[in-house]
Amino acid sequence: MQQYRNMSDTPTDGGVASGAQADNAVAPEHRIVNAMSVDVEDYFQVSAFADQITRADWDDHSCRVERNSDAILQMFADHNVKATFFTLGWVAERYPQLIRRMVDAGHELASHGYEHTRVHHQTEDEFQADVHRTKAILEDVGGCAVTGYRAASFSIDERTPWAFDVLQREGHSYSSSVYPINHDLYGMPSAPRFAFTPSKNHDLLEIPVTTWTMGGKKFPCGGGGYFRLLPYFYSRWAMRRVNRQDGEPCMFYFHPWEIDPTQPRVPGASAKSNFRHYTNLGRMEARLRVVLKDFSWDRVDRVFLDRHRLSA
Ligand SMILES: [Zn+2]
Repeated sequence: MQQYRNMSDTPTDGGVASGAQADNAVAPEHRIVNAMSVDVEDYFQVSAFADQITRADWDDHSCRVERNSDAILQMFADHNVKATFFTLGWVAERYPQLIRRMVDAGHELASHGYEHTRVHHQTEDEFQADVHRTKAILEDVGGCAVTGYRAASFSIDERTPWAFDVLQREGHSYSSSVYPINHDLYGMPSAPRFAFTPSKNHDLLEIPVTTWTMGGKKFPCGGGGYFRLLPYFYSRWAMRRVNRQDGEPCMFYFHPWEIDPTQPRVPGASAKSNFRHYTNLGRMEARLRVVLKDFSWDRVDRVFLDRHRLSA
């Protein structure tokens, strides 16, 4: 079956960690291919620093997104992993060669909006213009169709009931813009945990970032800050649990700036933002290399669109 395809060279996919006990082994028929994704934005474009660095200030900062993304491309090549790069139109305009390197290496190019404006900060018309503009830039630069979309800071929620219809109208097949948890910056706790079609009028698929449940409560385990801040064994345990108990692939994400411990510090941010942004940056690349070995990974479109079509 397509969704259980093994795209990795390593025989340890599906959750068998390096050094794991034999009783942790997963039967081959249960090896699930998970979705690996990168949100391609620079350290000064993150929502957590939006009060310190406005959009008008962006050009005053030295960009590190190209070198960090190239390091990620090398890491994926080393582990024979294909992934999806949700990329800002702003980045694609400035680094077209980077975009072509992603596409030429077999990765999926997808949209992260033009300049990281959260969806609930836009009107429906503004959102449609941003989606349209970004898709056109990415397709022009990448020379390929762009069908995936991820909202800045998972900002599709109850305030934006028109967002999925806009994405479908603009030619997107799927979105990965919902994090079904409670969080101070984002989250739509009422959303389903796994891929769903938000509208009866079309088949656009929403693929939430992965959560696990206990006692009816949802907890995050799809990468992001949780992967970097908490010990690795937590993420490994939680993602294995989703693969085994739910029988579902995980949706994992991280950012290029998370593997860059020497990035310039942004002055004036809150202690909470500083903690979330800078903690464990120096450990991140090694940790990512372990998770790339411990699980099997592929592009979002191949993991979820194939699976959805097969089950439809
Ligand atoms: Zn982002």
